[in-house]
Amino acid sequence: MRLAGKVAIVTGASSGIGAETAKVFAQEGAKLLVVARRKEKLEAVAKEITDAGGTCKVFIGDVTKEADCIKAVEETIAAYGQVDVLVNNAGIADKHRPIDDCSSEWWDHVILTDQTSVYYMSREALKYMVPQKSGSIVNIASIGARGLAGISYSAAKAAVISMSKNIALEFAPIGIRCNTVSPGPTPTELNTPEAMATFNMGFADHCAQHMNLSLPESNVNDQAKAILFFASDDSKAVTGQDLIVDHGTTL
Ligand code: NAP
Repeated sequence: MRLAGKVAIVTGASSGIGAETAKVFAQEGAKLLVVARRKEKLEAVAKEITDAGGTCKVFIGDVTKEADCIKAVEETIAAYGQVDVLVNNAGIADKHRPIDDCSSEWWDHVILTDQTSVYYMSREALKYMVPQKSGSIVNIASIGARGLAGISYSAAKAAVISMSKNIALEFAPIGIRCNTVSPGPTPTELNTPEAMATFNMGFADHCAQHMNLSLPESNVNDQAKAILFFASDDSKAVTGQDLIVDHGTTL
């Protein structure tokens, strides 16, 4: 029960890594507020958690909307009176669009979803973590932060790592930590064969030359366990770090 007595927000918990993280957190004793846009899927995840004896509230919201992020944190405080862990996991892929195939609209959409949402949610959670003088923010970046994706996803995920180091530096003196987990290829809705078919495969193949894709894929539980490490006091002396969970794909 490594999260006993803790309150956690997990964004993007209606599927994939976020859904698994919420379930693992509940098994470890956390009280949860889960965030995503798809009501049915999010409620199914929450039901699985509550059926197993956990505590989980649902917030249907869009993390690209500042007002939704403010409300998600406020609802957490109204329900539980505190926020100890924030996992900024919500994200979309960028179809591997290089700069000469990336419209301004697509750029804005990916940056808003994968980067600006981390700013909104972290800023709001810190309003409560600072007076508590405790908290752990875990941001989900990607091996794509090394440039191994399209221009917008590469930029957003590199920014998430840099923003996390900045938050870590700023708040280390009062006991608030911020780290990133960078997943490698992990089968989820974001990474289905059908989703891959929408990618710019020529560019994806080019990226793959810089990766060892013959290694096994990680699974959502591998990612959730890494996120749990940063969320829990097991990592109480660790802040500003990026943990790559990819079987060594990018070594
Ligand atoms: P996924 O199954 O597609 O999950 C993405 C989640 O984000 C969903 O719950 C989705 O929920 C939510 N989401 C997307 N846009 C949102 C928005 N505007 N507002 C609220 N929620 C939103 O994919 P995943 O692989 O688990 O992705 C989770 C994170 O891991 C992402 O940040 C992704 O970049 C990162 N990652 C994944 C891989 C991989 O290979 N799978 C590799 C590297 C990094 P709704 O659609 O219901 O809103």
